[in-house]
Amino acid sequence: MRHPLQGPSLVLLLMATGACGVPAEPGPSAPAPTGAPTDAAGQFASKVLADTEDTWTELFAQTGQRYPQPTLVLFTDAVQSACGTNSSAVGPFYCPGDRKVYIDLGFYRELDRRFGAPGDFAQAYVIAHEVGHHIQNVTGVFDRVRQSASRANQNEMSVRQELQADCYAGVWGHYAAKRGALEPGDVEEGLTAAAAIGDDQIQRKTQGQVTPESWTHGSSAQRVQWFRTGLQSGQVASCDTFSAR
Ligand SMILES: [Zn+2]
Repeated sequence: MRHPLQGPSLVLLLMATGACGVPAEPGPSAPAPTGAPTDAAGQFASKVLADTEDTWTELFAQTGQRYPQPTLVLFTDAVQSACGTNSSAVGPFYCPGDRKVYIDLGFYRELDRRFGAPGDFAQAYVIAHEVGHHIQNVTGVFDRVRQSASRANQNEMSVRQELQADCYAGVWGHYAAKRGALEPGDVEEGLTAAAAIGDDQIQRKTQGQVTPESWTHGSSAQRVQWFRTGLQSGQVASCDTFSAR
């Protein structure tokens, strides 16, 4: 990829997959660049987003609803969104204020090189996870979390919200597999990615100790578990991480 990240900390990188998990208030934003991406990584991301649209359009239609598609914004270096200005060190994120999925192409390189999660399906999982946050936004989960989150439970609420986005990514994977869109080894790539970016795994690497009370996304085991739950069931209802113990 053209613009490798310039030494952001692991911690920052790993906030990546859910930087907008607790959404910021919408504010003024500059227009994001538009137009079809011309490079391979951008084209792949667009293809994955289109595939998530097929799945979620169908699932929403089953309950008589229209799926409002999110917009994909590819960036390197920095990007301005309704959630503020984020540098590429933040990684991929979803901004509820403008309903856009922001994908930092440099993150994929890190995913492969630093976290040992290579492969195109690992990249697809990251996009599907951010689309999972979009689903939470349009179904009101974001608002409910925002209303019920307190200082005491904000980490736990964040973890539950992130695990649900993992599960929704799995739901997409279930239908992608049914459509014959996956290749052998794809599911394993996704599971490897989910395990690589668990909070316990990251903390072990960055601070040498594990402090569950400071988690925001859940452990490797939890992320794998919920991604797998969605993958196997294909059911949105199976992703009730808020009731699960
Ligand atoms: Zn997330």
